[in-house]
Amino acid sequence: MIGYEDVGGVHIKYLYHCRRQLWLYLRGIRPEHLNTAVQLGEAVHDTSYTRNTPVDLGAAKLDFVDGGHWVHEVKSSGRPSPADEAQGRHYCQRLHRVGIDAQGAVLHYPKTRRTQRFPYTPEAARQADEDIRDALTVARAPASPDRLARSACRGCSYTDYCWTE
Ligand code: SF4
Repeated sequence: MIGYEDVGGVHIKYLYHCRRQLWLYLRGIRPEHLNTAVQLGEAVHDTSYTRNTPVDLGAAKLDFVDGGHWVHEVKSSGRPSPADEAQGRHYCQRLHRVGIDAQGAVLHYPKTRRTQRFPYTPEAARQADEDIRDALTVARAPASPDRLARSACRGCSYTDYCWTE
């Protein structure tokens, strides 16, 4: 079972997208490699911002941190989402845990050439801590959370698992 320090960016992203997805992922059910959306995400990631060095914090792997201590993340989707913001906030929290005063997250969307900035405020720090505790609650649940409404599952790599009767 994972603990507080093991919760990473992917866990937080799944927490926001679908609690059932997080629960399945934590149990080793990972069909992502079959999903073209994930492959596209990797391709965008691999061809963007190649001059910068990823930062590995163990459970959390960040794209890069600039000299002003802003975390930068490159996203494959065209539109910002609460999950993206939560992931950026989580990385800031992790950096603070190792003594780096992260100022916030800058999310890059190369597909639409958009950039969004989320300062790491005391409120963001409180929410980041709550998100981790929430992810641990899902992790400890004895049964998988309910499915989302089918319309919300479009593009999810777990669609076959959840919807094949
Ligand atoms: S298919 Fe739907 S219910 Fe299943 S994990 Fe994905 S989003 Fe959640």
